[in-house]
Amino acid sequence: MSLEDQIQKAAEILAVSRHAVALTGAGHSTPSGIPDFRSPGSGLWTKVDPMAVASIYGFQRNPQAFYDWIRPLAKQMMEAQPNAAHIALATLEQAGVIKAVLTQNIDELHHKAGSKRVLELHGSVRQATCTSCGRRVPSAELWPAFVASGEVPRCPACSGLLKPDIVLFGELLPMDVLLEAQHEAERCDVMLVAGCSLEVYPVADLPTLAVQHGAKLILVNYEPTQMDARATVVMHEDVAVVLPQIAAGVKALKGID
Ligand SMILES: [Zn+2]
Repeated sequence: MSLEDQIQKAAEILAVSRHAVALTGAGHSTPSGIPDFRSPGSGLWTKVDPMAVASIYGFQRNPQAFYDWIRPLAKQMMEAQPNAAHIALATLEQAGVIKAVLTQNIDELHHKAGSKRVLELHGSVRQATCTSCGRRVPSAELWPAFVASGEVPRCPACSGLLKPDIVLFGELLPMDVLLEAQHEAERCDVMLVAGCSLEVYPVADLPTLAVQHGAKLILVNYEPTQMDARATVVMHEDVAVVLPQIAAGVKALKGID
């Protein structure tokens, strides 16, 4: 089947869906210039051992090393703009098709694109929490000053160490978000997996859960995934190219301008 036909088929499946959800991962944000935070090929791990730096143990042992590592990434995330794939998913939500975006990404680009219901399974850079008093600090008070100075961010109330609300290696996923995402996987009739290599658990189990409950899978990812054989449509393509075409197809089928 040609790519054009696959895009059309994906649009048809989504257009008649009752409750479609999207699942996105690092590949969804790479067209926005954000490297895959967990990938060995990203360049983020060439100088440091991820377990030593970006694990909860590493953070507690040496917060300066963690913040030195995350500083260029934080700068990229502050400056990054949503790409055409983010905008396509927000458009599909506005059209009443996509009911929720489940994401592994911490970069807030789905929000910036206009998506309303976003389940951030690995947390986000939107705020940080004081490890001493529990105070929440919004990103505007955290990242610009830190990116400029490189100094470990401290709590404005008690000077305690601030930890960004992102899931580090060795940490559990936020249970409330994970349960909600699992619920979405069980109730959806279509899951659109976009830019997600399905290698990190438990997120990688969500498409399996969806299929077990009768949902159709649409996969858009550069590399083959473990779920390709169980998907109705598989496209090893750039999400920023394919998703806008799928969104346009859905809107045409539903008669939306
Ligand atoms: Zn504090």
